[in-house]
Amino acid sequence: MAKQIQAIRGMNDILPTQSPVWQKVEAVLRASVASFGYSEIRTPIVENTDLFKRSIGEVTDIVEKEMYTFADRNGDSLTLRPEGTASTVRAGNEHGLLYNQEQRLWYMGPMFRHERPQKGRYRQFHQFGVEVYGIKSADIDAEVLMLSASLWQKLGLTEHVSLELNTLGDSDERAAYREALVAFLEQHKDKLDEDSQRRMYSNPLRVLDSKDQQVQALLADAPALMDYLGEDSKAHFARLCELLEAVGIQYRVNPRLVRGLDYYNRTVFEWVTDSLGAQGTVLAGGRYDGLVSQLGGKETPAVGFAMGLERIVLLLETLELNADVAAEVDVYVTAMGDDCVIEAMKIAQELREKLPKLKVMSHCGGGNFKKQMKRADKSGAGFALIIGETELANNKVAVKPLRGDGAQQDVERQALADYLAELIK
Ligand code: ATP
Ligand code: MG
Repeated sequence: MAKQIQAIRGMNDILPTQSPVWQKVEAVLRASVASFGYSEIRTPIVENTDLFKRSIGEVTDIVEKEMYTFADRNGDSLTLRPEGTASTVRAGNEHGLLYNQEQRLWYMGPMFRHERPQKGRYRQFHQFGVEVYGIKSADIDAEVLMLSASLWQKLGLTEHVSLELNTLGDSDERAAYREALVAFLEQHKDKLDEDSQRRMYSNPLRVLDSKDQQVQALLADAPALMDYLGEDSKAHFARLCELLEAVGIQYRVNPRLVRGLDYYNRTVFEWVTDSLGAQGTVLAGGRYDGLVSQLGGKETPAVGFAMGLERIVLLLETLELNADVAAEVDVYVTAMGDDCVIEAMKIAQELREKLPKLKVMSHCGGGNFKKQMKRADKSGAGFALIIGETELANNKVAVKPLRGDGAQQDVERQALADYLAELIK
């Protein structure tokens, strides 16, 4: 036998048994963004490598070690997108969507990062994200958080996630803070892990995000960014907190929340869960007023978030909230003999036209009654339609319940759609 080829490590198939949960999640996301008036943007999966280097930042996990970068046939350096914000800004600038306009956008699709695969962490994964451009004030920060909260509500996850919030101030405030932080870290250099020692000068704020226990303990005494904020940044944050309280969104201020990408300023946030172990962040984002101009556009305020779909699906599975996904088939149509097959095909088609929501599967491939009933059962359908010589002669269809103990009924072909509509609601 020929050797089988396997999928790439960390890149998953979503199998037919799993896709109903995915579709449910995707449907909830689409419905939510629609109800907030957001528009979809779709960008290519591959971009010029420089786009990510210039936006995400050279000294970040993503750019330092996680990108899938390769040379195109003409030698250009291309990268499989590791996230969606950079591409959205690139497209917005390129098509003139951002200058002097407001845009409320969303996207959904695969992202690629060369990470060590583990539960909740993969090399191809999917993100849903929203990005809003052109609004400076904190009400829009509150709106994107309301949108995210509405997702949890619709998915039944509200009790299982919590919001962590912080502010990074503006770039000059962060520069002042950075100096104070570096001075503090220098005093305690010997207690820093290797990564933190390296980042102390290149990207010291990222040290706050260190997963190392000893570093985290040390940071309890580090200077706090909050103390370096100017009046405007303070007012922005206070207004956001006020709005969140007014709409009933609970949050915890976490002064160590800095996020792994360079482009954020002011508001940053993460929705976290303790039901998934180490990979507990299910949605993350913030404000990034500098990015549009950094990528060649005009100064444009911006705020957004990205949510990892694998972690949401895992969470729904872990909490056993994935059970209510609809069956793939409602009605399985069987037919005995060649003439009956023709009528059965027509009946199935009539039903699909009259009842667009009804899921009708036709038996194909022949076989005796017993075999066809076995298939009907396996399909998960609630009812089998039986079309044999007798039914054909009488212009009737037998409707056989496959679950529970209802009795089989002969139904006039003309009345079949109404009969089924009544049965399957
Ligand atoms: P982490 O600290 O877990 O590495 P991150 O800061 O790199 O997360 P973001 O770039 O903010 O994550 O991405 C937003 C969300 O996308 C994450 O909160 C997570 O839900 C999801 N995500 C990120 N990387 C992966 C991955 N490799 N596999 C699955 N989901 C991921
Ligand atoms: Mg990461």
